[in-house]
Amino acid sequence: MKKIFTSTCPKCKSTFVVSWELRHAGLKLICPICGHRYLPDKSLAIDEREQH
Ligand SMILES: [Zn+2]
Repeated sequence: MKKIFTSTCPKCKSTFVVSWELRHAGLKLICPICGHRYLPDKSLAIDEREQH
């Protein structure tokens, strides 16, 4: 069982899957759609879940 989360980009509003390690790492995510870099807490939406 692997923990992941989805983040919604505040710039282009795309949702993509991110590995859990980056959730609280203090590192910026890079949106795969528009290339925008932002901290996870700046996401428009975050969905934490477990991937079976
Ligand atoms: Zn984006």
